[in-house]
Amino acid sequence: MSIAVSNTSTESRPRTDGTKRRRPAAVVDFNRITDEQFQIAADHMGLEDEIQLLLRTPYREMVVQVPVRMDNGRLEMFHGYRVQHNAVRGPYKGGIRFHHEVDLNEVRSLAALMTWKTAIVDVPFGGAKGGVTCDPTSMGRAELQALTRGFTRKIDMALGVYRDIPAPDVGTNGQVMAWIMDEYGKKNGYTPGIVTGKPVNLGGSLGREEATGRGVMIITREACKAYGFDIRDARIAIQGFGNVGSWTARLLSQLGAKIVAVSDVSGAIYGEHGLDIDKVVEQVNAFGSVVDMDGARTIDNQELLSLDVDILIPAALGGAITRNNVDGVKAKLIVEAANSPVTPRADEALRQRGTIVVPDILANAGGVTVSYFEWVQNLQQFHWSHERVNQELETKMVRAWDAVYQRSIEEKTPLRIAAFVEGLSKVAEATRQRF
Ligand code: NAD
Repeated sequence: MSIAVSNTSTESRPRTDGTKRRRPAAVVDFNRITDEQFQIAADHMGLEDEIQLLLRTPYREMVVQVPVRMDNGRLEMFHGYRVQHNAVRGPYKGGIRFHHEVDLNEVRSLAALMTWKTAIVDVPFGGAKGGVTCDPTSMGRAELQALTRGFTRKIDMALGVYRDIPAPDVGTNGQVMAWIMDEYGKKNGYTPGIVTGKPVNLGGSLGREEATGRGVMIITREACKAYGFDIRDARIAIQGFGNVGSWTARLLSQLGAKIVAVSDVSGAIYGEHGLDIDKVVEQVNAFGSVVDMDGARTIDNQELLSLDVDILIPAALGGAITRNNVDGVKAKLIVEAANSPVTPRADEALRQRGTIVVPDILANAGGVTVSYFEWVQNLQQFHWSHERVNQELETKMVRAWDAVYQRSIEEKTPLRIAAFVEGLSKVAEATRQRF
């Protein structure tokens, strides 16, 4: 499988499946990348062949067709996926992505990453991921609702509070989770624990919306301490200004860091002395994009990646930093807020020149951690305060950082391998106990 690396160089022609035809850019095989990373870690820790076989193979893969009557009266067919990778440590857990580049191979890769991520932060979940190939930005509310409900009906036999619990990802949000919960509830009765990331009013958790960004902030802060950067002086560029990127920007700027550049799919902005992030959020809420912001220079999306900054935080999609653009990257620390933003070739080039890369399965694990808190609150039928959520998140993220960082020092490995080994060890141990 392969998907386009960039969704900026696209052309649009109407298609019958509700998506726009896009010209493919260079392609990245995400599942091959995840598999390679798994293999390096498995070899490093001397994992038995049988356990390797059990851990690398997804448990179940669903491919479903979802017909939707569009606003213009036409019937369109969408393709949806749910991959349940591993559940030896707890129910399958993972987001649902609505994006025009979603395919089974990418979902498979993201599902495996979830298995290692939940183990690293030590929440009792396994790993799963879902997605629908669609362009939610060009769909109306009724179309999105019909698509979400149709997709839920097609996969609901494999969902369950103790079986598989979806959450938001790129292109989905609390509203989409509310529709999933409602559709699932029609057959199964009131079941708030069937999804996380839902609106607080429907049983969602305080602090869930910002959780992934808060986790990225905590890990960036800890990495700065460990590697001798002063976060208050740090100049930071963030690619992607959606849920994760915008919260990361807000929370890091509250620590005193200078967020000098941010971007979204339409372009990037740069402010030499640091952007006023609250104003950028206001502008995005009003006009839908960061570009053309008063007092900031609009720059090219690619230029953001090669700015002279201390820290670069890719928080958009996979395949942002590849062998084609890695030579331009000047940041000394890269924190992967998105999943798989740095390809292995680029990772190797960065390692050789001494750039530290904090891997996705550690850096963006704050979302699933607070999803776990939300699930616990749903089971308990008891709401935690925002303060308690943030405090428990802080504890879990710092503990995960310490474990991965210590392992990287003791075993003289890059953080990515240390993180994989940390996750793999826990899943392998549970597998041995069950088999
Ligand atoms: P989102 O849909 O809210 O935001 C995505 C952002 O990326 C948007 O601002 C979009 O315009 C921008 N973008 C897309 N293509 C771009 C490009 N080529 N250049 C620059 N910007 C571009 O999605 P999100 O929930 O913020 O997720 C972002 C990443 O974080 C994804 O990789 C996702 O898998 C990962 N992640 C999300 C969560 C979560 O809780 N939402 C948890 C863990 C990991």
